[in-house]
Amino acid sequence: MSDKMLKFVKIGQQTPPKRKVDKRKDDFKEIYDEFITQKAQEQSSRCSQCGVPFCQVHCPLSNNIPDWLKLTAEGRIKEAYELSQSTNNMPEVCGRICPQDRLCEGNCVIEQSGHGTVTIGSVEKYITDTAWEQGWVKPISIKNEKSQSVGIIGAGPAGLAAAEELRKNGYKITVYDRYDRAGGLLIYGIPNFKLEKHVVERRTQLLKEGGIEFVLNFEVGKDETLEQLRRKHDAILIATGVYKPREVELPGNDLENIFPAMEFLTASNKKGLGDKVDLFDKGTLNAEGKNVVVIGGGDTAMDCVRTSVRQKAKSVKCLYRRDKENMPGSAREVLNAEEEGVEFVWLSSPKEFKGKNKIEHLLVDQIKLGEPDESGRRRPEIKEGSEFEIKADMVIKALGFDPENLPLLFDAQELQVTKWGTLKTDFDTMETNLKGVFAAGDIVRGASLVVWAIKDGRDAASSIKKYLENIYLKKSKVA
Ligand SMILES: Cc1cc2nc3c(=O)[nH]c(=O)nc-3n(C[C@H](O)[C@H](O)[C@H](O)COP(=O)(O)OP(=O)(O)OC[C@H]3O[C@@H](n4cnc5c(N)ncnc54)[C@H](O)[C@@H]3O)c2cc1C
Ligand code: SF4
Repeated sequence: MSDKMLKFVKIGQQTPPKRKVDKRKDDFKEIYDEFITQKAQEQSSRCSQCGVPFCQVHCPLSNNIPDWLKLTAEGRIKEAYELSQSTNNMPEVCGRICPQDRLCEGNCVIEQSGHGTVTIGSVEKYITDTAWEQGWVKPISIKNEKSQSVGIIGAGPAGLAAAEELRKNGYKITVYDRYDRAGGLLIYGIPNFKLEKHVVERRTQLLKEGGIEFVLNFEVGKDETLEQLRRKHDAILIATGVYKPREVELPGNDLENIFPAMEFLTASNKKGLGDKVDLFDKGTLNAEGKNVVVIGGGDTAMDCVRTSVRQKAKSVKCLYRRDKENMPGSAREVLNAEEEGVEFVWLSSPKEFKGKNKIEHLLVDQIKLGEPDESGRRRPEIKEGSEFEIKADMVIKALGFDPENLPLLFDAQELQVTKWGTLKTDFDTMETNLKGVFAAGDIVRGASLVVWAIKDGRDAASSIKKYLENIYLKKSKVA
C-alpha cells in the first residue's frame, strides 16, 4: 500500500480544490494532508470568535468549537483536546467523516460572509490524532465499580459512545455484536480511504482496557433472546443500526454479479483489514477490470463507486433517477467521485437486468422531473420510449437501508416499532415500551450520521444512569 496520499487542505474553501488523481498509484487515499501544527494554527486563528457560534449550534454534539479553535491557535493543543473530547467520544472519527459542509463548517460565519470556512473538521482530527500520538488519550479508570450492569446490543458508534459514558460512571458494561469486530458501520461500512480502520480499532482497544467487555459473533435473537439478556442485566440499550437493504425488484434480479452495497463494502473492508475473503479472492466481489454500475445517489453509492475505482474497475457508472442538484449524497463526495473518473448517468432508472447467467447489460429508462411530491422533491417520471442500454459486468445496489424486523428477530413481539420499523422510544428518556430497555442511533432515527449516533449514545447513557440510580435508591430504601 502506497504511503503517498493525495493531498488537499481546504484552506479557506468550503468546496475543495480540484485534486490531481493518479489512479496508477496502488491506493490513492482520501484527502487529508498531514495537517501540521502550523496549518492547524493558521486555520484556527481564522476563527473570528464571532460570539454567535452557528458552527456549534449546527454540530449535533454542540462541540465547543470556538474555544478549542482558540486554544489551538495559541498552541495549547492538550487543552484543546481535553475540551474537544469532553463532548465527543470519537472526535478523530467525526473530524474525518462528518459531512461538515452540511453541519459546522457550512454554518461558519466566515463561510457565510464569503471568505471560506475555517476547516473545523481537519482541526478536530488534528487535535485528537496529536493526543493519540502524545499518549494523552487514556483508558477509563474506575475507582468504585458499581454492582449494576448494562447490556448493549450493537458495537457501532451509538453503542460504543453509550458504553464509554456508562463505564465512566462505574457500571459494568457488556457490548454484544453479531460481527467479529466492534465498530459497526465504522469498521465494515465506511471505506478505509475515508476512515482508516486502525483509528476505529484503537478506540475499541481503549474501551476494552477501560474494563468494557465485548462479546462478539453474538447475534441477539439467535444466540440469546432479548428477554434472556434482560434477565442478565439491570438495563439494556439496543443500538443495532439499520441493515435491511432497500430493493429494486426488476426482471433479471437473480442474475449473477448483482450485489447489495453492504456485501461489496464489507468484503472490501475485510480485505483491507487483512482477512481472507473467498468471494473477493476469486474475483466475484472484486471490481478489478470490470464495468461496474452502481444504482443510487446517496453516500453509500458514493462509497461504492469510489471503492470500485480504487479496485481498478474498467469503468464505473452511477445511475441516479434525479439530477445532480437533487442528489441526497454530499456534494463533496460527488465532486471527489467525478474527479476520480466516475461517470454519473443522471435522470436514469434501471428497468431490467439482462444477461445469460451473469449480468451483461442494464436496460435503463430516462427520467424527467415532474411536480413536487409530499416531501417537496420533484417526482421522477419515466420518459416514454427513452430506454437505452448500459454494459455491466457488476451491479451494486445502493438504494439505502431500512430497519430489520427487531420484534421478530429478538423474539420480542411486544417491542413497539414505528410505521417505518424503527424502534419507538420515549422522546425524553429514549426508553422503549419495555421497562429498562433503551434504544439509540440509526435503529431509532433511521439511516443517519455517525455524529448523531454518538449524540444518541451519550443521551441514552445519561437516561440509563438516571434509571439505574432510581432503581438503586428504591432497593436501598426497601433494604
Ligand atoms: C456505506 C456507508 C457509509 C457511511 N458513511 C458515513 C459518513 O461518511 N459519515 C457519517 O457521518 N455517516 C456515514 N454513514 C452512516 C453511519 O455509519 C451510521 O449513521 C452510524 O454508523 C449509525 O451508528 P449505529 O451505532 O446506530 O449503528 P451501526 O454503526 O450500524 O452499528 C450497529 C451494530 O449493531 C450490530 N447488530 C445489529 N443487529 C444485531 C444483533 N441482532 N445482535 C448483535 N449485534 C447486532 C451490528 O453488527 C453493528 O455492529 C454511512 C453509512 C453507510 C452504510
Ligand atoms: S463533530 Fe462533526 S459537526 Fe461537530 S464539530 Fe466535529 S466535524 Fe463538525
